[in-house]
Amino acid sequence: MNARDYWENQMDEENIRELSGANMDIDLVSENAPWAQCACPWNEVENTKEHRCAVKDTSICKYFRGIKYLDSVLCSYPQEE
Ligand code: SF4
Repeated sequence: MNARDYWENQMDEENIRELSGANMDIDLVSENAPWAQCACPWNEVENTKEHRCAVKDTSICKYFRGIKYLDSVLCSYPQEE
C-alpha cells in the first residue's frame, strides 16, 4: 500500500473530510514554540527568517507542497517543478 492509499483509508476509517480553500498561516520560524521545529531549507541557505510557507490572505511559497498529518510541511526546495 502506498502512502496515498494509506491516508485515503485512514480518512475513510476516521470519517475525516477534505475541505479545500483554507486560508492559512504556516511557517517554520516560530521563536518560542514549545515543540521541536525543523528549519526551512531556503531560510538556512540565505541565513534569514524571511521565507514562510503560507501567509494568510497573501501568498504561498513556490516550494510549498502541502501539509502531512499532523504538522509537517511538505517542501520541494530547491525544486520548483
Ligand atoms: S515551503 Fe519550504 S522553502 Fe518554502 S517557506 Fe516552507 S519550508 Fe521554506
